Amino acid sequence: MYGSGILRGLGVTLKHFVNTYLDDIRWGFRRHIPDEAFPIRQGLDTRGVFTVEYPDEKLAMWERFRFIPFLVIENHDHPERPGHDWCTSCGICAKVCPPQCIWIVRGNDPETGRPVPEPQAFYIDIDICMNCGLCAEFCPFDAIKMDHDYELASYDRTSAHIFDKQRLSKEFRYWQSIAPTRAEEEAEARGGWEHKDVLKQKAKEAKAKEN
Ligand code: SF4
Ligand code: SF4
Repeated sequence: MYGSGILRGLGVTLKHFVNTYLDDIRWGFRRHIPDEAFPIRQGLDTRGVFTVEYPDEKLAMWERFRFIPFLVIENHDHPERPGHDWCTSCGICAKVCPPQCIWIVRGNDPETGRPVPEPQAFYIDIDICMNCGLCAEFCPFDAIKMDHDYELASYDRTSAHIFDKQRLSKEFRYWQSIAPTRAEEEAEARGGWEHKDVLKQKAKEAKAKEN
């Protein structure tokens, strides 16, 4: 019949329209709880049209979502190494970064002048970073991770988007909070929750005590 396609299309639109209200009734006030409602309402069971009123509402990020990298530092209330860098300034991340947007300055011992395994300075140009995650994949010390914070726009086009070490550094517990499963998997592979060097040192001390 002439026009039957148009009628079918209007029927589909009407179905989505009605289902949107049915979904809203089904979820009631719970639809405003992002961590609970959003992941389900984005799922296959949702029939209506799902709208997020950004920035008042925000979608929950998946663990593997990646934006700009950040540097892991020890928690500030750590008993032995508060706020200590996990990064040893080995330079691997800077080497593998495809657009070469990482700059690292290795630290030196102020007394001896000899290099120490920590960065004196660490910069990432976030306008050049393409969010590939290779730096995090290659880091042998689990010291650089991909962040979930995507609200980084600013009107300053000069230096505001070159993040320095202070801006990049976040406590280890932050990584545990945004990627609990991955943090646990990595700790298991490392042999504990501590930094690799600390674990090595502890194993060495335990061996020395045994002998
Ligand atoms: S690869 Fe890891 S430890 Fe090496 S410089 Fe980069 S962040 Fe630091
Ligand atoms: S995410 Fe990719 S582009 Fe960005 S700093 Fe890491 S390696 Fe470089």
